[in-house]
Amino acid sequence: MKREKYVVTSALPYANGPLHIGHIAGAYLPADIFVRFCRMQGHDVVYVCGADEHGAPISIKAEAEGVTPREIVDRYHKEIKAGFDGLHIEFDNFSGTARPDHAKLAQEFFLSLYKRGFVVRKTTEQWFDTEKQRFLADRYVEGTCPHCGAEGARGDQCDACGKLIDAVTLKDPVSKISGSTPVLKSTTHWYLELQKFEEELKAWLETKTYWKENVHNFISNFLENGLIERAITRDINWGVPVPLEEAEGKVLYVWFDAPIGYISATKEWAQNIGHPDRWKDYWLGQDTKLIHFIGKDNIIFHTIFFPSFLMEQDKNYILPHDVPANEFLNLEGRKMSTSKNWTVWVNDFLKDFDGEYLRYYLAANAPETKDSDFVWKEFQNQINNDLANVLGNLANRVFAFTGKYFNRTITQPHDLSELSLKALNESKVLVDEVAECYRTYKVRQASKLCIDIARIGNKYFDETQPWKAVKQDASTAAETLYVCAELLRLVSIALYPILPQSMMRLRAMLNINSIPVWDDSDSILQDTTLGTIAPLYRKIDDKEITVQLARLDAARKAAEPVVLEHKDFIGFDDFLKLEIRVVKVIEAEAIKKSKKLLKLKIDLNGEQRSVISGIATSYKPEDILGKNVAMVMNLKPRKIMGVESQAMILAAHDEGIISALVPDIDVKPGSEIS
Ligand SMILES: [Zn+2]
Repeated sequence: MKREKYVVTSALPYANGPLHIGHIAGAYLPADIFVRFCRMQGHDVVYVCGADEHGAPISIKAEAEGVTPREIVDRYHKEIKAGFDGLHIEFDNFSGTARPDHAKLAQEFFLSLYKRGFVVRKTTEQWFDTEKQRFLADRYVEGTCPHCGAEGARGDQCDACGKLIDAVTLKDPVSKISGSTPVLKSTTHWYLELQKFEEELKAWLETKTYWKENVHNFISNFLENGLIERAITRDINWGVPVPLEEAEGKVLYVWFDAPIGYISATKEWAQNIGHPDRWKDYWLGQDTKLIHFIGKDNIIFHTIFFPSFLMEQDKNYILPHDVPANEFLNLEGRKMSTSKNWTVWVNDFLKDFDGEYLRYYLAANAPETKDSDFVWKEFQNQINNDLANVLGNLANRVFAFTGKYFNRTITQPHDLSELSLKALNESKVLVDEVAECYRTYKVRQASKLCIDIARIGNKYFDETQPWKAVKQDASTAAETLYVCAELLRLVSIALYPILPQSMMRLRAMLNINSIPVWDDSDSILQDTTLGTIAPLYRKIDDKEITVQLARLDAARKAAEPVVLEHKDFIGFDDFLKLEIRVVKVIEAEAIKKSKKLLKLKIDLNGEQRSVISGIATSYKPEDILGKNVAMVMNLKPRKIMGVESQAMILAAHDEGIISALVPDIDVKPGSEIS
């Protein structure tokens, strides 16, 4: 087979929060599996990623926490990396975009596009949040879509009609940072004239007939709507400075600098291994295949924007070879939401389960052609059935039997029965199919076929009945064990990209201690003495799933609005029995020994009364003095703390907050309320 060269990337995780399972299913696990498979095939791969560390969300979060953006970035870089490590997602380099070498490269990209006439300077009006004194990035302003009239459209794109929006055309804009109404204020920015790339992009995309259908369709539709220029600079202080004198105080827009992070991460890797020019073999080597693994929300960036930057550089960069974008992963039938905590955080998962269990379940349910669903109960079933009952059980029965009757020795038989040959041949066919699945990013099918090999093994074991055979003709039983061990060896090759850790354990039990290469599937198992045997997988208890579901349930309850309880209806006559009037507070004093009560004197058109009122937690005497408030006048007088209260103030209660009802328009004390 021809040795191919690859750069494989996974979407840069944004450094303002930890990883959740949706990220893993979309961009990381599929890439890690693909990379492992390519390496098993003998290809030359560099696999890079890094944290996306610039942009407004990070600076806003830093401001809210009173720390520097760098502190936010360092915190999440560490957390994110720990999540990847726990899942055995192994990059050659996990870098970050807030590094000086990245800034240098991003500036070089900008200048190249600028000098070649693809960047234009424009002074425009932009939404400005006067309360927070900052310009609003497109996604920090929401309003009514100018195309379809849908409410809640973001400044960059409308989710309802899918069209791009020029933020200033949004109707009824609201700042998402402060909730205030932003104003238009003029500012100068640099724009990438994407429309100038349209023809070249179309011609390039026409060659991409082998792309996944969802990706190809999405991008064709997008190009048909036409491209418009897009700002690549911003007015914030956290980012890569724009390398022009007249652009002081401006930074490159994060969507511009982020994908360049793939290249800076590769450069950093080359430096780390002591061959600083090695990155050129990949990014400038025209035979390299550049593969971007991403979620579907990132398709535009990797098929339109980033290729446009790459096309107009002084260096001859390669363009993406493939962009196998995935659909989304839902959770228990609902869309994941990090703000509502409706997700499973990777680092939480790793406290309770082995990372490989997540790898297996997400591979078997990968959102390849449509959205898929993470369901805890199904997670339990799939781990317990596929891994413990089928694969783990085959290993366990074969190894235990070999230990008991054959002194832990597996011996190659001289001849093979028809049943044995059938089991071996069927399995070999599956291994070849699995390779094709990995090559075409079908990990769902790959995981299923791998377990099918173990199923063949269990069926064959049952049919040949070695527990009976061993008493009559030991060599028949030995043959069964050999064939099953060979099937386990095939599984350890085929399933390695998905479950590298447990497949290495399985191989160690077979006394094979090398990382598998795919060609190993063409050879056969030699005589071997088993290594140390231990269960491959553990079963997951119902109790463990109950705990996870309870956690989700708590998240849902916390996010749901409180349901109000209503009292029984009353007649209008009942209502008329109440005498409610506007009164003026003419004296107010605190009551000693009470944090809750104020003593008030009220006046209603000359008549005065004393009132004890439980509003002191929200009102000091001077706050209520002189105000007109609503009072129930005909509640029977009662003594509170030894003082008679001759009316009752009306107030709204919102958890600890008490708010006295005050008439909207000034009316004279004594006015009746009905
Ligand atoms: Zn719309």
